[in-house]
Amino acid sequence: MYQMLIDGELVDGSASLDVVNPVTGQAFATCGRAEEDDLQRAVAAARNAFPGWAALSWTERAVYLNALADGIEERGEEIAQLLTDEQGKPLGQARFEVGASVAAFRYFSAQEMLPRVVVDEPTSRVIEHYRPIGVVAAITPWNFPLILLSVKLAAALATGNTVVAKPAPTTPLSSLLVGEVAAAILPAGVLNVIVDANDLGGLLSAHPDVAKVTFTGSTATGKKVMQSAASSLKRLTLELGGNDAAILLDDVDVDEVAPQIFNAATFNAGQVCMAAKRIYAPRAKYDALCDALANLANSAVVGDGHDPATAIGPIQNQMQFDKVMDLIEDSRRIGTIVAGGRRLNRPGFFIAPTVVRDLPDDARLVQEEQFGPVIPVLAYDDIEEVLERANDSEFGLAGTVWGKDVDRAVEVAMRIRTGTVWVNKHLDLRFDVAFGGVKQSGIGREQGDDGLREFVETHVVSIAKA
Ligand code: ADP
Repeated sequence: MYQMLIDGELVDGSASLDVVNPVTGQAFATCGRAEEDDLQRAVAAARNAFPGWAALSWTERAVYLNALADGIEERGEEIAQLLTDEQGKPLGQARFEVGASVAAFRYFSAQEMLPRVVVDEPTSRVIEHYRPIGVVAAITPWNFPLILLSVKLAAALATGNTVVAKPAPTTPLSSLLVGEVAAAILPAGVLNVIVDANDLGGLLSAHPDVAKVTFTGSTATGKKVMQSAASSLKRLTLELGGNDAAILLDDVDVDEVAPQIFNAATFNAGQVCMAAKRIYAPRAKYDALCDALANLANSAVVGDGHDPATAIGPIQNQMQFDKVMDLIEDSRRIGTIVAGGRRLNRPGFFIAPTVVRDLPDDARLVQEEQFGPVIPVLAYDDIEEVLERANDSEFGLAGTVWGKDVDRAVEVAMRIRTGTVWVNKHLDLRFDVAFGGVKQSGIGREQGDDGLREFVETHVVSIAKA
């Protein structure tokens, strides 16, 4: 039985939760689960721990964060195996996620926001101090349970906040192991990790003693979080859905970019907020790209993440599996499926990588976030037109532009209205670069200087000089 961390103690909680392995569709582990009183204890513990933690210097907190990094690294293989069990991703990618999480704690441990003298005049001196906010609720989804949690924790703790973390109920175990590691390192209450049955997120994000919510998840749930947070005017960081366009320019070599586009669309079985979700090819290269992507889809090894040959694992949970299958059925009626288009003939939540062409722009697969290995490929005739279509979305998370003439590709990138655009690459995320969405893809940024600022309040001390 995996346990939660509340007020420095590993506890079973008032209830329990079975966790399903998406490869089999069967429960394989059980963990403790919180009811409302457990949540209240976790928030109270974080509140009590806040003054002491906030009073430490950045260097003192860095010692704890580095110890956490070491602790996670020591149990890295165990955590990676469990991440593959609960999430479904190939083990190599789970190991990479563990490594990135360790790196996140190390990176944020080295940050420091020193007070800044902003005015120094004969009669006045004004200093900005950067203060932690208080209790932070960190609510995370099931696609990258570990790295998304780690980036939030590392930044929140480094800046002097205390945390109540709540992973998604279908992938709680890797987060609980982080809690286990933290139990032996952090002062009681500084980090609490609780599990729910998708029933406590609202209570946590409305709790009067929670000062900030940092949330990664769907746009629909993000709106609910924003609503709950309004009750006490909480600070909010929302990293939500995307419907990222990949635009191929007319000078691309299709055979060269097709594997990169395929990976951008199907990495983590397409369950990535900034996956390539709509592919736009110039009409002259449309057939060639569709064929190349179909070949890649047909030859991709889909299977159990523990099998070293596997490139693409299952969809993480039944609900998402049903949603992706529904989008495939909708696309079958109005477009042409040139690869995949079916579930695999085995237990678990496996979907054959799917390529769909000839869809109208108003198809659900083009308009909605599919969050699965299903790639709509669309043709365009000129740049103005494709930019208009790419930008005609309520989402604005990221996107990619692919072209041999880099200057021209950058010009196109500059006109895409999203938080990030990658040129001739994808998924290059760094702790020192801000990431986040415009429009309904989110509010605020994670990582980079902007990301750190989201966890502090500016406290101005303005002094009259004699
Ligand atoms: P998805 O739609 O991708 O399955 P969600 O965005 O619903 O994921 O979930 C992301 C996280 O938000 C999960 O930890 C989930 O339990 C949590 N959550 C769900 N409903 C709420 C809510 N009303 N308020 C806050 N968090 C919620």
